[in-house]
Amino acid sequence: MHRILVTGGAGFIGNHLCRRLLREGNRVVCLDDLFTGSLENLRDLRDDPNFTFIEGSVIEPWDLDVDQIYNLACPASPPHYQSDPVRTVKTSFLGALNMLELARKRGATILQTSTSEVYGEPQVHPQPETYRGNVSPIGIRACYDEGKRVAETLFFDYHRQYGVDIRVVRIFNTYGPSMNPLDGRVVSNFIMQALRGEDITIYGDGSQTRCFCYVRDTVEALVRMMNTPGFTGPVNLGNPLEITVGELAERVVCMTGSASRVVFRDLPSDDPTRRRPDISLARERLGWEPRVPLEEGLRETIAYYRGLIARGE
Ligand code: UDP
Repeated sequence: MHRILVTGGAGFIGNHLCRRLLREGNRVVCLDDLFTGSLENLRDLRDDPNFTFIEGSVIEPWDLDVDQIYNLACPASPPHYQSDPVRTVKTSFLGALNMLELARKRGATILQTSTSEVYGEPQVHPQPETYRGNVSPIGIRACYDEGKRVAETLFFDYHRQYGVDIRVVRIFNTYGPSMNPLDGRVVSNFIMQALRGEDITIYGDGSQTRCFCYVRDTVEALVRMMNTPGFTGPVNLGNPLEITVGELAERVVCMTGSASRVVFRDLPSDDPTRRRPDISLARERLGWEPRVPLEEGLRETIAYYRGLIARGE
């Protein structure tokens, strides 16, 4: 049994992770400032004696009696992380610094959820961990991309300089139930638009690609990584199945039986053209690969959003 801190535990991936860790008999403290996370996501955990929620930000230092830290705290959806970019940089950098200090003080193992955004607009495809990326340091995505990059730097410096036991994972696009319907991500937008009969908004011509990993698979990888001694990463976590945004729109329309039409909007600047993880390292070191096919994951996600709409939430 571990005493585990999950920062960003009220967020999309975080709440699934908290639940999984509790199921395995751990004690879990969730630290979240509720900027994009929501207490709704944790409603069923409120009465669990092994679960504690603290409303607070990783931008401040914390001292908690824990032996594992999963650092997930950071808005991840472009409209959210761009709405207060200075806060995003602070969350990434100061959040990493404060959590690493906590890990150092308590001798805890600490896992950083980095991102495929460290590769920026990739010129190598698919992206292996050895690729150093092509990131604009001044564009509108930079607050997130560079924030996450410097957080990786800090993790490796704490490891080399102070011997902190670190894990770094680079998470590619993840989707599934409990992603906020207003999150602004492509999967949540398309499904909500399809279910409400609204126009489906493709940014650009829809030829850009992404790979979508179901949240249960992502959480499995996080837990495996945390519990793999001596493997710092960085390691890519994502689903190697690549599809265009246009194909995703078609699938969602077809699976929801929606009468929505597709409309085209301007492509935001610095929006990566192609993205696909090389997951050889995760396969080899974690014995992990995604299990949930896109069709099945989308079905479960559509059912979740249908439920929200039916309950008027
Ligand atoms: N996208 C889109 N319509 C939307 C939301 C997003 O076409 O309503 C596009 C977006 O421009 C990007 C891709 O879908 O090319 C994935 O966007 P998302 O925000 O989900 O994630 P990220 O860009 O961070 O991978």
